[in-house]
Amino acid sequence: MKTKEEVRVTQIHFDVEEVRKDFPVLHQQVNGHPLVYLDNGATAQKPLQVIEAISDYYRRYNANIHRGVHHLSQLATQTYEDAREEVRSFLNAKETAEIVFTSGTTDGINLVANTYARMVLRSGDEVLISAMEHHANIVPWQMICEQTGAILRVIPISDDGEWIMDEALNMISGATKIVSVMHVSNALGTINPIEKIIEAAHAVDARVMIDGAQALPHFEVDLQQLDCDFYVFSGHKISAPTGIGILFGKKELLQKMPPWKGGGDMIKEVSFAKTTYAETPLKFEAGTPNIEGAVAMAEGIRYWRKLNHHELQLHEQSLLEYATSELMKLPGMRIYGRAKHKVPVVSFLIDGLHPYDVGFILDRNGIAVRTGHHCAQPLMDFYGIPGTVRASFAFYNTHQEVDLLIKALKQAIKMLS
Ligand code: PMP
Repeated sequence: MKTKEEVRVTQIHFDVEEVRKDFPVLHQQVNGHPLVYLDNGATAQKPLQVIEAISDYYRRYNANIHRGVHHLSQLATQTYEDAREEVRSFLNAKETAEIVFTSGTTDGINLVANTYARMVLRSGDEVLISAMEHHANIVPWQMICEQTGAILRVIPISDDGEWIMDEALNMISGATKIVSVMHVSNALGTINPIEKIIEAAHAVDARVMIDGAQALPHFEVDLQQLDCDFYVFSGHKISAPTGIGILFGKKELLQKMPPWKGGGDMIKEVSFAKTTYAETPLKFEAGTPNIEGAVAMAEGIRYWRKLNHHELQLHEQSLLEYATSELMKLPGMRIYGRAKHKVPVVSFLIDGLHPYDVGFILDRNGIAVRTGHHCAQPLMDFYGIPGTVRASFAFYNTHQEVDLLIKALKQAIKMLS
């Protein structure tokens, strides 16, 4: 007879074994064990289609873009701009003018802090972030607040790792000029109710930036429906290469914003007396961009869009539930992040065991997890801990891999206790 778990798994019909065939890196031994890759929150693995797209770019049409009349340059330019259109349609943004290629989430947040924020912030204005933010969505705001005299305010969270919404809404006032918050927490997995924050911020004419780094690997986002002003993410978290990402900005804002980095490609005319700038998005893309990154990211997005998202989400939620319930059976287990709505990320500590030691033993068993503060030190301070062990799952992970994680953790408990 099948267990309850097995029945639920077979009902989902997400053919994970078929999907895994697209990811060559998953099929290897690490320290004499089959690799179990549970560090997807840090970076996701790449399907063959993306690896091939990079190779194809260098084999067939490597050339610099936008400035060449020759065939290869035109092909590279066309493919780069097609990638922008793929991203636009993926996010349901209105126009490609709203899609700026960046080097990643960090770059996108710094761009907005150094352009839009620098332009609007005055002494005494407020920037609102939350207590669970990644350092990438804390430090740029601290820096810009220091320079402008604006005040950084922080939405508090509950022990379960959810925003305390009453307080969050109370903190939004006429003084609030920018709200910059994460869609999904990298350390806890919480899916935040950003819609409510966007609405409240717009009611006082504040602009909203969403850090989507951990959202897009798990679900689709409709930017016209969300109506946020800026949205950023990194390609490498969604099956694309490192060093490429996206800043979405509403066109009317991008048009008003000054450029950040100066150089080639972002100009209309240059003379020693005066330089005029290109229109958005090129105004924000100074220098030779990461062309192969953009092309490969578009391929990663095409790959991701072909998957059945309903089934994918059921599969991921089933992994989350199964991992959570199996982990909770272990002695001394404490899970951080018990929000009602979560992506498949489980952060935990085992009483008496140091997370690094646990991570080391898992690695000896071929299991890749992340240990430490997950670039969210203020969040770790809130819980009064130095860090956690984080297992972050992707759609290509399996229930058998959860079993292997649990088996290795039992070994760690035995060895380290
Ligand atoms: N925000 C969140 C929520 C993240 O998880 C990360 C990456 N861990 C970042 C920002 C920074 O992304 P990147 O390093 O790709 O710029």
